[in-house]
Amino acid sequence: MILFCRAAFWIAVYLALVLVPLFALLIGPRPAGSGFWWDLSLALGFAGTTMMAVMFFLTARFQRATAPFGIDLVYYFHRWISLGAALFVVLHPVLFVVQDSYALHMFHPAVMGWELWSGVGSALALAAIMVTSLWRKPLRIHYDAWRVWHALLAVIALALALVHIAGIGYYSGEPWKKGLWLVIGLSCVAVVVYVRLIKPTAMLKRPWRVTEVIEERGSTWTLVLRPEHHAGFLFLPGQFAWLTLERSPFAMKEHPFSIASSAENPLELRFTIKELGDFTRRIGQIKRGTKAWIDGPYGTFSIDRMQAPGYVFVAGGVGIAPIMSMLRTLDERGDKRPLQLFYAYHTWERLTFREELEELRGRLDLDIVYVLNDPPSDWEGETGYLTEDIFARHLCAGRSQLECFICGPTPMIEVAEKSLAHQGVPRGQIHSELFDLV
Ligand SMILES: Cc1cc2nc3c(=O)[nH]c(=O)nc-3n(C[C@H](O)[C@H](O)[C@H](O)COP(=O)(O)OP(=O)(O)OC[C@H]3O[C@@H](n4cnc5c(N)ncnc54)[C@H](O)[C@@H]3O)c2cc1C
Repeated sequence: MILFCRAAFWIAVYLALVLVPLFALLIGPRPAGSGFWWDLSLALGFAGTTMMAVMFFLTARFQRATAPFGIDLVYYFHRWISLGAALFVVLHPVLFVVQDSYALHMFHPAVMGWELWSGVGSALALAAIMVTSLWRKPLRIHYDAWRVWHALLAVIALALALVHIAGIGYYSGEPWKKGLWLVIGLSCVAVVVYVRLIKPTAMLKRPWRVTEVIEERGSTWTLVLRPEHHAGFLFLPGQFAWLTLERSPFAMKEHPFSIASSAENPLELRFTIKELGDFTRRIGQIKRGTKAWIDGPYGTFSIDRMQAPGYVFVAGGVGIAPIMSMLRTLDERGDKRPLQLFYAYHTWERLTFREELEELRGRLDLDIVYVLNDPPSDWEGETGYLTEDIFARHLCAGRSQLECFICGPTPMIEVAEKSLAHQGVPRGQIHSELFDLV
């Protein structure tokens, strides 16, 4: 209930941030010659601009504001609401021209003033953000380069939109209205200063050290980190954090990883990382003693947020990491509730945490169903991909009471979500963690 109220509060804050400036502009004298389409065009432009401004707050990772939803949901919201903002910004000049075809002449480069150029520049920057975000992978833009350009283009798009509004002056001619847009612009500058300067400076004062680098099965490594001269932080089992290794927290080279260790020991964090790309492939070469910076914890994927008489976990590949955190925590707490783990992997030989899971099975009330893609010849367990049939055969009783946690590749998550729902687990009790935020 508290979480629901908090979520409702933050949704109301979002709507207020987007709509209040719009209504404020209607106060006082209005410009002559306005008709419905004209006004709608302007309203879309203003709404698109405030939505752009709110994006700065959405992506600033304010822990209190994101906690009710989970930062991953906030990023998805950011992604989809950006499309809405872009649509508004595109419709703004289109409607303007449609309502009065003569207006098209104003867009001739020979007569266009700076106030129109800035609007066009803002729309182009926004278009570039959309194209590079929606098609980053097919365009083969490296994540790190994309991130820097994404931030720069966002600042450019908003700054030019504000210049455009100030220059055109419709509905915003009076000093207090100009002041309103100035406040919106300055608050975004404040967010950028917080994210790029204040927060990294605070992180500098709370360094971590790599104390162990452990090779696991399946081209996977576990980094063990300890806080240096500070008390670490409390987290919920299953949450994740952004990790920066070797570079300073100002470098914008951080990567999100689930915390794989027990939440009962905040003085030791473990990240289990699969070799995949530029950064993760070098994890095995990280030296003990390397300095690290951690921004976290984030996320809502945790048993501690969902009390239940028993839990079902579904893991594919390195998706086992947040689930290990939950199992290790339950083990340290001496929890006796029934647990079930469906764990899909390619081979038995490469199955990460194989030995530890067998030990945990002995201490917890834990049933494990392994599903191997490429099983050894004497394998008697489940084979192939995880399917609904496998859930139907093994899923424990009391399904309407269970809370289920799924983490792995997207196709596996989709199958598991559908299967568990078909097998009688209420949708609201099925929780998934995607390792792909962008
Ligand atoms: C909430 C969450 C928890 C995660 N937990 C784990 C975990 O416990 N273990 C694990 O092995 N992996 C985890 N990942 C995935 C991990 O973050 C990426 O595999 C890693 O960042 C890839 O970096 P790379 O340079 O090696 O690969 P690249 O080849 O550069 O990137 C591969 C893909 O990973 C994503 N990616 C790359 N860099 C980043 C970044 N800085 N931030 C966000 N996404 C990025 C992009 O989609 C990119 O296309 C998690 C991801 C998320 C979102």
